[in-house]
Amino acid sequence: MTRQFEVTQRDGAARLGRLRWTDHELSTPCVLETKDQLELLEEMTESNTDLDVEVIKDSEDVHGTNINADIIILAGALRFEDDPRGLSRALIDIKESTNPDAALYAPTLATPQNISMLIYAGIDIVDSVLSDVKAREGYLLYTDGEERFDEIPHPLCLCDVCRNINFGDGSFERKVAITSEHNRGALLAELHRVRARVKKGALRELVEARCRTTPTLTAFLRLLDEEYNYFERRSPIVRTATLLACSQESLDRVEIRRFNERIIERLHKREGILLLLPCSARKPYSRSRSHRIILARLYKLRPFLNEAIITSPIGVVPRSLEVMYPACNYDIPVTGKWTRDERERAIEQLARYIEANAFDSIVAYVEGPYKAICDDVAVKLGVDMIHPGDSENILSSHSLQRLEEIVRDLIEKHSPVRRDLRFDYLRDLADYQFDNGASAAFFSRAPKIRGVFPRYYASDRGRRIATLVDRYGTLALTIEGAKRYIDGHIGHYCVWIDDFEPKGTIFAVGVLRADPIIRPFDEVIVLNDNTIAVGRALMSGWEMEASNRGAAVAVRHVEAR
Ligand SMILES: [Zn+2]
Repeated sequence: MTRQFEVTQRDGAARLGRLRWTDHELSTPCVLETKDQLELLEEMTESNTDLDVEVIKDSEDVHGTNINADIIILAGALRFEDDPRGLSRALIDIKESTNPDAALYAPTLATPQNISMLIYAGIDIVDSVLSDVKAREGYLLYTDGEERFDEIPHPLCLCDVCRNINFGDGSFERKVAITSEHNRGALLAELHRVRARVKKGALRELVEARCRTTPTLTAFLRLLDEEYNYFERRSPIVRTATLLACSQESLDRVEIRRFNERIIERLHKREGILLLLPCSARKPYSRSRSHRIILARLYKLRPFLNEAIITSPIGVVPRSLEVMYPACNYDIPVTGKWTRDERERAIEQLARYIEANAFDSIVAYVEGPYKAICDDVAVKLGVDMIHPGDSENILSSHSLQRLEEIVRDLIEKHSPVRRDLRFDYLRDLADYQFDNGASAAFFSRAPKIRGVFPRYYASDRGRRIATLVDRYGTLALTIEGAKRYIDGHIGHYCVWIDDFEPKGTIFAVGVLRADPIIRPFDEVIVLNDNTIAVGRALMSGWEMEASNRGAAVAVRHVEAR
């Protein structure tokens, strides 16, 4: 078994990588376009190289098997040109039954319009064959579709080829040659755009834009979005790029569903008074003008409240998770109106959140469409919600005064426990990130918390346990924190390595076992008999175990065990 493909960067199922064999090297994702490259590929498939190539004719044959290869070729991929369901099924079957460090090649399928989506779905190599065929049929290809070269009065593109030709002159053969050159240029330009997007962690936004140009691609994206597990297993827990929710499909993003699931499944149950607030354009919400006004008014009462923010596309964000991706870094078109889908998702998630906790009273300090959502949830669950605010303006002094009075009365009535707001952030983030019960392991008693919001750090008996990394909203552990955690959570978020001292980067080849729940960017604990280390995962846990190449963990601290 040879391993000649190395993934260097990931954005969900999309990846950048390097394929090396004998004296050749290809950077992926790539478009095979020259005669040389296509011949190379023939050479590969004739297996007279040191590459292990597997040609898959029918993806159903591989279902449930475990194929090991350097390159997987999806033979006859062209049959999927107008069959998004067949393509998504075949891709996922193949990806789930082959080693993660195999490059996937789908021949004769790519166009400038669909290449972003093919790479998003997990394909590493495509070619220019279909673009050439389309040229011969008389079609100029663009990222938003195709045009017949004899039907357009002016070139629609100003690349070097299109700038210098007149489509009205010349022989058919010449037109085809020119069109073919443009088509390849358009394909490569889009490939470069995709690569840049993968580097930024922002391919999804491009894919959502491109899918709008044809029903087939829209269907393809919607079908892919039904494959939650496939994408979730490959998606980082945080991104630095802003999540732009500009389409209906944005609501189905893995990051949003995962956030919603974890809030329900991982956070400890809350009691007492719930205060619902509307979202703000500025993130974290508590830095916005509207939240600052409301929170200043409730200054002394806040330690007795549970706050949550109603928002699209996420639904509900507990205050303590406002610093965590995607809550800390998303943007939506603001028109004052919610689409039906947005409303329905928010209603569903708010209802789930209320049901998952045990609140005595709910105060909905919201206006306009947020109030309508709260009303629907109140009816759906048969619960009462108190609306102290003016439905037109919750920032009026009259509304704020009513809010303060009502909250004060409720506190007197329920006498909830007073909490440390900074500790709330650390505790919920610990549970969100390391699963239910993690906070109890890190903080068996209330830690000493220092730092300025949100850059908090927690210590106990003079030893630092964890730091809130404000850029991502994640907790970075110290060795002390790691030790506290592993005692009660055997194997959780752990990576076991061979007998060497971990320094800098740990490569997948040195990983013996890893918790399959680990995702890129997760904080992990690295162990062998002699050392314990903490660091950041660079690939998913299942991928560390199944891969022979690539960087697995960036180590931060190491200590002898
Ligand atoms: Zn052009």
